[in-house]
This record gives sequence, structure tokens and C-alpha cells, in this order.
Amino acid sequence: MTKKSGYAAIIGKPNVGKSTLMNSIVGAKLAIVTPKAQTTRKRVLGIYTSENTQIVFMDTPGILKPMHDLHKAMLSYIDKSLKEADIVLLLIDLEKFNSIDTYFHSSFLSTLKKIRKPVIVALNKTDLKNDKKDILPVISQLNNSGFINEILPISALKKDGVDTLLTTIEKYIPTGEFYYDPELISDQPQRFFVSEIIREHVYTLYSEEIPYSTEVVISEFKERDSGKWYISAEIIIEKQSQKGIIIGAGGKKLRQLGERARIDIEDHLQNEIYLDIFVKVREKWRKKPVFLKSFGY
Ligand code: GDP
Ligand code: MG
Repeated sequence: MTKKSGYAAIIGKPNVGKSTLMNSIVGAKLAIVTPKAQTTRKRVLGIYTSENTQIVFMDTPGILKPMHDLHKAMLSYIDKSLKEADIVLLLIDLEKFNSIDTYFHSSFLSTLKKIRKPVIVALNKTDLKNDKKDILPVISQLNNSGFINEILPISALKKDGVDTLLTTIEKYIPTGEFYYDPELISDQPQRFFVSEIIREHVYTLYSEEIPYSTEVVISEFKERDSGKWYISAEIIIEKQSQKGIIIGAGGKKLRQLGERARIDIEDHLQNEIYLDIFVKVREKWRKKPVFLKSFGY
């Protein structure tokens, strides 16, 4: 049987459900999902393999206008993904959409037309629409845009329409040998997921600017044949004044973070761990190319 294999870039505004969709396709938690915008900073690959077809999904940070160097790095992941992609999976939040020209920035739309790749639109969050008839005008409007190949309503959260979406994507995947071992679901090493799990808990435990100015670096990851594995993580913040907030009165908040993260990491690794977390200040790291580079951006 001839094999098909290709890359699909998942593109869309912040919070439309890109990470939720990728996790539900791959059937594992690869990308962190939170109600806060811009949780996905780097490009995360999720590999879906059926008997004859392999689709490598690229989850990207939401489309936004760059405010600082970290945003620029995030945007470059979107560009890179678009270039490498065989197809573009454009996600739209039905709750936020009224017209294509007001929903998307004009420069983004012209980029999308110029790349001349199949564009599949998934209209997400159908579970929030009581009247499914409300979706029809959106579909007919998008149909008139001239550059969209397919439009499908889905609920990434409830996994509604996701199978149909996969079958539709498969039609546009070129023939070719698989890029990755069919057993793999991502190209990222374990320590990446560990740092993402910690970052997710930073997003849920702290408010305001803290999550956005935090990076997590895994400084040690020791697997042991027997007993607990050892993981040491650094929480990088931008200002000395944030240290107290992270640690909390009597160290309570940091202990809470460590406890919650440990439970999820053990679940992910299927192994007990000993987790050490340290807090480090790297003044204005989001604006400094040296730091961004050392954090892998
Ligand atoms: P991303 O920024 O595009 O990656 O969006 P996320 O996947 O992080 O999701 C943003 C928020 O939307 C989260 O609170 C998700 O639970 C929620 N969400 C994602 N997909 C759906 C959906 O199909 N239905 C509903 N009701 N919520 C969704
Ligand atoms: Mg995301």
C-alpha cells in the first residue's frame, strides 16, 4: 500500500483552541492549554499516524502583532511552520467571528493567499452554539473568499467532527514515506514536556504579568533504573520583585506549584520523581536575545 506523509500547520488567533485540537488528535497532552492567551510559545509537533498516513501537526503560537523580542520569536515559528507545511489548518473561534476581514489582519490574509497551499478551515467551539443553523452563514461567507479548500465545523474540546477533519486533511497529504517512527507522537524530548507542565501550573497559580514573564528551564533530568527520578527546574523571572510573589508567604505558593507539577509530571512520565524548583532572576529576559537564545527560542 502506498504511504502518505505530510506536515499540517495549525494556525489561528490566540485562544481559538489550537493546542486543544492537537492534543485531541494525537490523543495525548502535548501542548499546554489554558484560558489565558499566548500559552504556546514555541512550535510543538504532534504526530498522528494511521495505517497508511502520517500527519505531522505543528501547533503554533497565536497570530499577534509583535510587542517585544519574545513575540518576534513566536511569530517566526508561525512563518517557519507555514513554509514547511503541506497544508494549512486554519482555526477560527465561532464565538468571536463575524467577518473574515474584521477577524483576520489583512497582512495575514495576503500571506495566506500567497503561499498557495491547501487551506482547511476548522470552525471551532460548535459546542457553544445552541443553534447549529448559525454556522451556515459563516460557511457561505468563507466559501466566497476564494482561497479556502474545505470548511468544517468542529469541537476540539468535545472531539466532535475531529475524525471527519482528519479524513479531509488526509486527502491533501502527498504520497511519501513516513517522516517519523509510527510509535512516536512528538519530536520533543521528555524534558520539554516536563518544563511545559511546570509552565502550565505557573499559568494557573499566578496572575497578571507573572505567567507571561516566566520561563521554565530544566537544569537536571536524571532517570534511574530503580526508585524516583530526579528533576531540577529553574523558574526564570524578569524582576527581583517577582521572586516574593512566586515563592509566597513562608514558601507556600512555591510548594503548591511543586506539588501540583510533580503529580502531573509523574503521570506523564509514569514514574515517581523528586522535583526541585529554584527561582532565578534574569533581568528583562524577554527583551534580550542572549537569554532568548539560551532558552531555545
Ligand atoms: P490556543 O491558544 O489556540 O492554543 O487555545 P487553547 O487550546 O489553549 O484553548 C483556549 C481555551 O479554549 C481553553 O480554555 C480551551 O479549553 C477552550 N477550548 C478549546 N477548544 C474548545 C471547544 O471546542 N469548545 C469549547 N467550549 N472550548 C474550547
Ligand atoms: Mg496554544
